[in-house]
Amino acid sequence: MTEAFEHGAGVRSLRVPIPDNPLGHTLVYVVDTDRGPVLIDTGWDDPGAWDTLVRGLTACGTSVAEIHGVVVTHHHPDHHGLSGRVREASGAWIAMHAADTAVVRRTREAAPERWLAYMTDKLAAAGAPEEHLAPLRAARPRALPGLSPALPDRDIAPGELLDLPGRRLRAIWTPGHTPGHVCLHLEEDHPAHLPGRGRLFSGDHLLPGISPHIGLYEDPDDTTVTDPLGDYLDSLERVGRLAPAEVLPAHQHAFPHAVDRVRELLAHHQSRLTGLLALLREPLTPWQLAERMEWNRPWRRIPHGSRTIAVSEAEAHLRRLVKLGHAEALPGSDPARYVAV
Ligand SMILES: [Zn+2]
Ligand SMILES: [Zn+2]
Repeated sequence: MTEAFEHGAGVRSLRVPIPDNPLGHTLVYVVDTDRGPVLIDTGWDDPGAWDTLVRGLTACGTSVAEIHGVVVTHHHPDHHGLSGRVREASGAWIAMHAADTAVVRRTREAAPERWLAYMTDKLAAAGAPEEHLAPLRAARPRALPGLSPALPDRDIAPGELLDLPGRRLRAIWTPGHTPGHVCLHLEEDHPAHLPGRGRLFSGDHLLPGISPHIGLYEDPDDTTVTDPLGDYLDSLERVGRLAPAEVLPAHQHAFPHAVDRVRELLAHHQSRLTGLLALLREPLTPWQLAERMEWNRPWRRIPHGSRTIAVSEAEAHLRRLVKLGHAEALPGSDPARYVAV
């Protein structure tokens, strides 16, 4: 079944599969405009996903060739993967926030061995044990599929309306999950008159049943100490203030009551930070903190690649605690150990 799901007033969604991924699928939204349909995200670059997208557009009474533009919520391959192929088939423009376009450019230009060396050094500095680092040191760097993403041709300017003839779609910058993540606010009456203001395409920022991964913004060329978790919490408050009538996320399903979901996520992160402070009564490296944090399964059953992601998440939380003045690095410790103050 590849039928499009009807959201009303010229908005439909297609469930585009993500191969070998527990998330299952990306919801690609098809928004009618006076110049042809515009896609919000495109899905993973995979033949099965492409076929689903093509069939879904046919079910919407249109075709890939008719696509006028592609608005990308963020650079991750389950959102931006097929953008290049859609552009080739249609001549559509691709729009993305400049901070994520910078990530795309870096991904295209940085040699795989440079990334591998950068990640290995970072993990060593976070206190990763030799058994975790050895496979990375032994790895033969190779270009990974999905790592040659398309360069967008338009910037999404925060706070401004996108060029969608006949529609009012405003970009809301929501950094945190990535530095250039955007939500898109459709400033039009809700077709079923749900209470609230318009509809929000929320990408990965606001999902009904998942708290998105917040790690560090990895950039080998930039030593700025960023605070992605702080950015994410600010971004949550920003979309909460919009109070949209309905949220159209990029995974799972559409939902009303955005404000409740925002409150839930803010409370979740608050209690997680409090929990981490309790763990930091003894000095811990980011790796040791990750080992002690609560995940969806015990640490010993978390595979190698997911541990790398978990440490990045632990570091994002440490950044936040240090920034708030609740924790600090022990002077002279290497790898750095952090303790509650
Ligand atoms: Zn994502
Ligand atoms: Zn995603």
